[in-house]
Amino acid sequence: MFDALQENLGAAFKTLRGQGKLTESNMREGLKLVEKALLEADVSYDVVGAFMKRVSEQSLGEKVLSSLRPNEQVMGIIYQELVNLMGPVDHSLHLKGKGEVTVLMMCGLQGSGKTTTCGKLGKMLKENGRRPLLVAADLQRPAAIDQLHVLGEQLDIPVYSDRTTQDPVKVTANAVERAKKLEADVVILDTAGRLHIDDELMQQLRQIDQRCHPDQVYLVVDGMTGQDAVNSAKAFNEALELDGVIMTKLDGDARGGAAISVKEVTGVPLKFMGTGEHLENLEPFHPERMAGRILG
Ligand code: GDP
Repeated sequence: MFDALQENLGAAFKTLRGQGKLTESNMREGLKLVEKALLEADVSYDVVGAFMKRVSEQSLGEKVLSSLRPNEQVMGIIYQELVNLMGPVDHSLHLKGKGEVTVLMMCGLQGSGKTTTCGKLGKMLKENGRRPLLVAADLQRPAAIDQLHVLGEQLDIPVYSDRTTQDPVKVTANAVERAKKLEADVVILDTAGRLHIDDELMQQLRQIDQRCHPDQVYLVVDGMTGQDAVNSAKAFNEALELDGVIMTKLDGDARGGAAISVKEVTGVPLKFMGTGEHLENLEPFHPERMAGRILG
């Protein structure tokens, strides 16, 4: 994960570590390389600027330079600032108590991995003793409904769909009623996706949000798309007030910038990450672990 970033940061730390006594000029050179590594990893430009300012202010102080192991101190500062950028994260799905239905609304662009992530979440909830119901609220694409039914069968989780209506608000309201009958306690709404953000999509999602009052709204974004993932998170958050982001495809050659930037740019935490196509490949996102991994 994030191999190129790790490698480039490794080179920066070598510069910081290489000299016996770290001078201010070595330090500046090392920090320049850190900055370059972050920009190459597609971390948002403004995020890199603010991050490097904080790191430099702390690293170039007399206290660090005259300390016994300045390079370790700088790595510690970078680690902590990375953790601060990506966190804190509350992994709770804020599920209601037994007997009550919690509605999780899942949004995202087509191809982001939204439907797969609905299945992954369902599996995780079922394993934790919950009774999920998957709901096909993407009514434009019949294939999306079929895909959700296939996932439900694979996972032995019920799926609610209604091919006779084009009204996702109605589908959602009926799904909650169905959940009560089935004694399901978490409704996972697979909403419509589009190739690009458009007004019609946002309006439809806002309608579901305002009329069905989901308990949590999550956005699924493709980590491989870098800054596009961050920009779509920003747009969805402006329309819907997201409770969390789930970033998929971090197992591929995602450069890492989206995962590092999204919280700082949008204020919405990255809660979970998709690390593969299989249904067990969903993990909570831990800023500390991620920062540790990035720094190698
Ligand atoms: P949707 O259009 O947003 O509903 O996207 P899908 O759920 O159909 O996923 C699109 C493609 O991405 C499928 O081929 C999935 O198997 C794949 N996919 C989803 N999540 C992940 C992930 O975390 N890692 C990888 N490698 N592939 C994923």
